[in-house]
Amino acid sequence: MKSKAYIIGSGIAGIAASIRLRQAGFDVQVFEASEMAGGKISEFEKDGFRFDAGPSLFTMPEWVDELFVLCGKNPRDYYSYSKLPVICRYFFANGKQLDAFDSPEAFAGEVQRKTGEPANHVIDYLGRSRELYELTEKVFLQSSLHRWRTYFSTDAWKAFFHLYKLDSSRSLHNRNESSFNTDETVQLFDRYATYNGSNPFHAPATLKVIPHLEFQRGAFFPDEGIYAIVKALVKLAEDIGVTFHYHSPVKKLTVTKNRITALEFSGGKTEVQPGDIVISNMDVMNTYRKLLPGEPAPEKILQQPRSTSALVFYWGMKKTFPQLHLHNIFFSADYKTEFDFLSRKKDVFDDPTVYVNISSKMKPGDAPAGCENWFTMINAPHLAGQDWDSIVARSRKNIIAKLSHMMGEHLEPLILSETILDPRGIEAGTSSYLGALYGSSSNNRYAAFLRHKNFSSRFGNLYFCGGSVHPGGGIPLCLMSAKIVSDIVKDRMK
Ligand SMILES: Cc1cc2nc3c(=O)[nH]c(=O)nc-3n(C[C@H](O)[C@H](O)[C@H](O)COP(=O)(O)OP(=O)(O)OC[C@H]3O[C@@H](n4cnc5c(N)ncnc54)[C@H](O)[C@@H]3O)c2cc1C
Repeated sequence: MKSKAYIIGSGIAGIAASIRLRQAGFDVQVFEASEMAGGKISEFEKDGFRFDAGPSLFTMPEWVDELFVLCGKNPRDYYSYSKLPVICRYFFANGKQLDAFDSPEAFAGEVQRKTGEPANHVIDYLGRSRELYELTEKVFLQSSLHRWRTYFSTDAWKAFFHLYKLDSSRSLHNRNESSFNTDETVQLFDRYATYNGSNPFHAPATLKVIPHLEFQRGAFFPDEGIYAIVKALVKLAEDIGVTFHYHSPVKKLTVTKNRITALEFSGGKTEVQPGDIVISNMDVMNTYRKLLPGEPAPEKILQQPRSTSALVFYWGMKKTFPQLHLHNIFFSADYKTEFDFLSRKKDVFDDPTVYVNISSKMKPGDAPAGCENWFTMINAPHLAGQDWDSIVARSRKNIIAKLSHMMGEHLEPLILSETILDPRGIEAGTSSYLGALYGSSSNNRYAAFLRHKNFSSRFGNLYFCGGSVHPGGGIPLCLMSAKIVSDIVKDRMK
């Protein structure tokens, strides 16, 4: 009889782990609390508009494709995507505007034309970003940091001989200030700290690795929108024999002699036999607190500060805006104060940086003719006892005023349809502790080592994948967490 792998949660990492473990020969059962797969990656339709409710930026599609190849399938039979020639359109508070073209040279030229920053500064920076990525990818992203074997590989020695290149003793902002002359370029590159919910004024300069993914590997758009990634992966999983149980929240894990021996879900209980494994894709904090209450937990790791959350207004707009692209950023005039609000005051600044994503630019069917679907997001602090109703009302007013001012057109009367997501909804919808988008933040130089590992040292058959554990949040890293788990499981089976 085949060993079983029980996966708790069908976030992107849970689905990826289900595919990898099925390929490794397990009978895989996925228990999902909600009615659909994908967790933070979800979609909805309202008033004739379709919205991708969570992620909108898709990088490293090859890490999705590799799951299909692993199963002997052609990814293009399941979903397709195209590379974006313009990654993002940036609007600065001083009225300057620039396009982030997909090639480093074109982008550097645009930065020079629009801000006066010498193009070679941008090229040099992206070169160092690439070098850092190549140095760290195998050790920090594709391996467990909690297994000795990681440290005895050639890649690890290479990384440790060049530790200074990690640049972890200063902040990303300090690094950017010393790399660039213009405030606009510093702000643009500071923004990459937000890709894992961190603060550029605190997070280590190691995060300068992130732009490499966009400018040298590219940003992409799936033809049918971001949720198409989930649909394609669930179809692949089902095609190879994975079983998904929806509306099936796992309530408890039973422990006997340092093993998980039973899993209780709403509507049933299953024994976990010797040789079977359990993988939690739910937030690691809630795995301990809700499923293993009373069991010792790694408190120091669990108490690491959480990443930021988000406040999203999904607006159906009764007009099209040729001056906007798929991804648009409207920067705050005072980035430092904005992050002080997010990190220290746990509040939202009245002049927030606003991100507007319009998937109907690429997929016209996402909005009725002559309309656009605006996913309008600002960074928000994680839950900390705030009065969210008043933050949402205040932020809505500020965002509309800011965008109306920067676009020279009053937007409020153009909003036909509205849905709002705040950190309370993110926590309730996906069981993400404090509504954090990316698990713990990367606001200190040791953060990479203070994320929970991908396996339990106490319970021999319990593993973890997803944004709250190593290597971190965001679609690409969640996919890597699934790979690391399956590599560890396969090694242990040898
Ligand atoms: C608004 C927003 C914007 C984002 N933007 C981007 C972006 O542009 N690019 C990017 O790469 N990333 C982005 N992210 C982050 C990205 O979505 C996440 O890092 C990633 O999707 C998390 O995947 P995960 O595998 O950790 O699982 P999650 O998505 O956290 O899903 C966990 C799943 O577990 C289920 N679950 C929880 N508890 C139980 C239980 N007890 N029993 C059964 N099931 C359970 C939940 O219902 C959920 O389906 C964004 C996130 C949000 C919310």
